[in-house]
Amino acid sequence: MIIHMAEGATPEQTQRVIDRISRDYGLRCETIVSETTVIGIKGIASIVDEGRLLELPGVESVLRITEKFKDASRAFHHEDTVIDVAGVKVGGENMTVFGGPCAIESEQQAIDSAMLAKSAGVDILRAFVDKSRTSPYDYRGLELGRGLEIAKAMKEATGLPTVSELIDLRHLDAFLEAGIDVIQVGARSAQYSPLLEELSRVDVPIVLKHGFGNDMSEWLCAAAYVMSGIDREGRSVGHGNRNVILCYRGIKAFETATRFAADIGMIPLVRQKSHLPLLADPSHSAGDRKLVERVAYGFIAAGAHGFEFDIHSNPSEALCDGKQAVNYEAERIIRNARGIHAMLAGVGIESGSSVAVAAK
Ligand code: PEP
Ligand code: MN
Repeated sequence: MIIHMAEGATPEQTQRVIDRISRDYGLRCETIVSETTVIGIKGIASIVDEGRLLELPGVESVLRITEKFKDASRAFHHEDTVIDVAGVKVGGENMTVFGGPCAIESEQQAIDSAMLAKSAGVDILRAFVDKSRTSPYDYRGLELGRGLEIAKAMKEATGLPTVSELIDLRHLDAFLEAGIDVIQVGARSAQYSPLLEELSRVDVPIVLKHGFGNDMSEWLCAAAYVMSGIDREGRSVGHGNRNVILCYRGIKAFETATRFAADIGMIPLVRQKSHLPLLADPSHSAGDRKLVERVAYGFIAAGAHGFEFDIHSNPSEALCDGKQAVNYEAERIIRNARGIHAMLAGVGIESGSSVAVAAK
């Protein structure tokens, strides 16, 4: 990070900035004095708040040179991260499918949907106990104890690892005791720092949804925050949780004909910017089963490491998001998506640069 002092700024003002950076963030600086003064902060400046520096007398501008989401950034970690979920690999060369019912509604519905998901070829099963919904009046899942019992039964019946959304911090221990293999942070919680901080203290893999009002940098900062294990004061509170899987699901935009607007360009862009595994969610973005299949193929062609989608044994009776859940089509979708993934395996994530190489 570079701080540009205004013309006419005094040496005392420059020293005050340097002292402030040392006092507040424990970071050291180097100064270049020519017509004006430039201060360079040494070390990782993710924790430095530009706004506070701009308040200091004599500061003209503050320029961030490296991205704030250091731990999630490919600039600091060139290789794709591959995360092991109970033997299932996510990221790198792998294509991984997360799927199952949007929510657990009853034992029968959950087991029937889980068996359908398994026979379709799902790798990691959705076993959603707690739900965050468009309206809090909508169905939000069974009582915690009963929901987790059924989640366990789904895992036992299929032998698949499970993913489940954590909404309430106080439920984390119960989720882990029940053997949930992946904790999902939903779009509505994507920037809820206490939840992110708690998840940075455990090793269980996390699926971090993209908040539908967040830009890419905010999303990757949330991921980096889980990974870095630093608290709000910038102090290290643990080793951080490196097992973060991203999941894109579209944003709110003026178009309401689809549920959310999914920008396909975000997929290769996030792959370029981050080394983390990247999934996408065709169900919650498109919001309609009639669109889900093609959108899923699009995400894979764009470079996603897999997708997460809703599969229900009887969508027309579903209490939660039945309109976007697929049934018998799930098997075909997964099979074709694997074909697309294999066909494009040799294509890099930056076509601009490969064209340049080819043209040489
Ligand atoms: C979900 O995956 O069930 C879900 C609610 O998705 P999102 O958090 O993206 O809305
Ligand atoms: Mn849903």
